[in-house]
Amino acid sequence: MPSPTHPFDTDLLVVGGGPAGCAAARTAASVGMGSILIEPDALCRNLYRIPALNNVLGGHTDGTALATAITTELHGTELCRIEPGRCVTELRAHDDRVTATLDTGRHLSAPYAVVATGVGPRRPRDVPWITAPPDLAPPPLWRAGARDAAGRTLLVLGGDRPIGTFLRAHPRVRTRLLVAYPAADDYKIEEIRDDPRATLLPAEHLTLHPSDTTSVTAELLDRNGATHSLSADAVHLALGSAPTSPPGDLIRDPAGYCPPTAQPPRLIVAGDLRSPRYQRIQTALGSGSESALRAYYTARDLPAGGTG
Ligand SMILES: Cc1cc2nc3c(=O)[nH]c(=O)nc-3n(C[C@H](O)[C@H](O)[C@H](O)COP(=O)(O)OP(=O)(O)OC[C@H]3O[C@@H](n4cnc5c(N)ncnc54)[C@H](O)[C@@H]3O)c2cc1C
Repeated sequence: MPSPTHPFDTDLLVVGGGPAGCAAARTAASVGMGSILIEPDALCRNLYRIPALNNVLGGHTDGTALATAITTELHGTELCRIEPGRCVTELRAHDDRVTATLDTGRHLSAPYAVVATGVGPRRPRDVPWITAPPDLAPPPLWRAGARDAAGRTLLVLGGDRPIGTFLRAHPRVRTRLLVAYPAADDYKIEEIRDDPRATLLPAEHLTLHPSDTTSVTAELLDRNGATHSLSADAVHLALGSAPTSPPGDLIRDPAGYCPPTAQPPRLIVAGDLRSPRYQRIQTALGSGSESALRAYYTARDLPAGGTG
């Protein structure tokens, strides 16, 4: 509780408990700053969805192992108080403080907040190149297991990177992925081009027909103006993600991302929420750590270009 001698609840509010938020809280503790970390779900919940990991230093080869290691370390960090099962519904930046309102109605204050709320899955109705029944809500491909795919044809909407993760995680599963993707995803498709289980379908437009069963039929207009009828046993999403951030004083770009340099001075944005370009675990960890240090040095009036 704030008091005349301690006017804030903590030194640093951390909004979001993914890799970026956890790194911020851990780094803050390493320089003696207390933090309150607010997370509605399990810490690092997104990492549990990554069955095969090959781009994080330290030897973890799946997301669950990494999430478990980070979570254990955070729970052992005395200077970090975790608020599990809570989310921030409003974030305000004042001249001398940041205030966060929780879903319980409670307010928390600190001199600075690291905001690391990441991104969530984009749905068919969010993209202009798909026409789909309004109630259609297919699961993301990363949620499919080997049993969902074995011996079946899956229509995959979009060419986002989890397709590569899925194929690497199930190297021996015999499946057929019909991957319909827009021109904007061309550069992401390269990593699955050589896998014979993926049929690449560059699309101008895709119309999904309503269906009473889990199977699906669709009409694809290709980039040469020809139409193709498709049928599959199920449909899954690989449409990428859209940023999620609490309402309040964060500054968003037209796509909803929160560029760090555009923010009010006391709000420091880290991880996937910054931009669609740097969405990796290691960049999230690095930017979370850097955000905590920025709060630390700014609170002590030490300029970024100082001597250590
Ligand atoms: C299927 C899949 C596979 C991937 N594979 C890889 C890979 O192999 N290698 C790699 O480097 N990266 C991979 N990524 C990307 C990686 O998971 C992200 O880059 C990383 O998790 C980003 O970390 P973050 O902390 O910025 O955000 P997130 O991990 O998204 O964490 C954000 C957290 O904020 C919380 N939150 C949201 N709103 C609020 C709120 N209002 N209040 C409080 N908390 C809130 C969420 O519950 C969430 O836990 C993959 C992603 C997916 C989906």
